[in-house]
Amino acid sequence: MNEFWSDCIRGLTPYTPGEQPGVDGLAKLNTNENPYPPSPAVLDVLRRALNGDLRLYPDPDGSALRQAIAEKHGLTRDHVFLGNGSDEVLAHAFLALLKHDRPILLPDVTYSFYPVWCALYGIDHVTVPLDERLQIDVAGYAQPNGGVVLANPNAPTGCALDAARILALVDRCPDSVVVVDEAYVDFGAETVAPHVDEHPNLLVVQTLSKSRSLAGLRVGMAIGHPALIEALNVVKSCFNAYPLDRLALAGAEAAIRDTEYLRITRRRIMRTRDVLTHGLAELGFAVLPSKANFVLARHPSHDAARLQRTLRRNGVLVRHFRAPRIDQYLRISVGTDEECRRLIDVLRTVVRAA
Ligand SMILES: *Cc1c(COP(=O)(O)O)cnc(C)c1O
Repeated sequence: MNEFWSDCIRGLTPYTPGEQPGVDGLAKLNTNENPYPPSPAVLDVLRRALNGDLRLYPDPDGSALRQAIAEKHGLTRDHVFLGNGSDEVLAHAFLALLKHDRPILLPDVTYSFYPVWCALYGIDHVTVPLDERLQIDVAGYAQPNGGVVLANPNAPTGCALDAARILALVDRCPDSVVVVDEAYVDFGAETVAPHVDEHPNLLVVQTLSKSRSLAGLRVGMAIGHPALIEALNVVKSCFNAYPLDRLALAGAEAAIRDTEYLRITRRRIMRTRDVLTHGLAELGFAVLPSKANFVLARHPSHDAARLQRTLRRNGVLVRHFRAPRIDQYLRISVGTDEECRRLIDVLRTVVRAA
């Protein structure tokens, strides 16, 4: 920090993403990336998009991609907003729809980026505790608020609510926007995206980073009533007219259209998740029921931070959060069967040695 820094950023604590080590041979189970490559159709389209047209700006509205997303949910493209990853979409939503005189509500354990945007934009927030099983307690959101942000499935717990409960919560907050972050919804949870027309205060945020194996392409989206989408477009056009480049637009559209590849890879991940959950349970871990491509697990007699370090020394990266209520848990991304076996092998040695 020095005297050139703007006052408004001096006190900020930014979000810390999981480690990207830049060495090969590690089992990278720490950032919820998909262990499988993107659809071959996506790679093919990307290769073909590498041409002289890159001298031209991309479509600022991403119309073709928005159309493909809208069709998937039986909506129109006026219901769809695009951003450079869903983190950017969420950031715009905080500014465009959640900055009011009343505090917004967040679960006490959730995606740690949400409070960062609150601090950046000067949005007050109040946390609503998860219940004793670390599930979102819907009743806790029936209080006056300037907005609600939930991840479904929640991060980093992996626990999901069914669509009916989410929609009931949305109906109970008619005067504020409820943002539902569905980053992990394709791994077994239920999307509320098809319901945005009947719920004008519901904004659903999704990403191609997890289930579509495209974390490196940076494509996220919001689905909501056209009036909400319009507010996001105002912020976007005050910030960056071209958040998605030509490659991202082309690749993302191919990814959205390849539903068969999604079906195959998500099924593989859900199967590996079951095997991983079972393997952890056999070693004495308590594992939360997950509908995401990760599990949150704790061992009653092994400190989580120490387990993480031991795994790291043995070439397996997992995430540990020094945060209230979850500091004795590890968040383990569902990798390939082989990567998960490697994790279990290391943990078995630790647990058996004790
Ligand atoms: C991964 C993740 C995101 C961000 O994904 P992008 O790569 O920015 O699209 C958003 N919300 C949650 C809960 C996530 O875990």
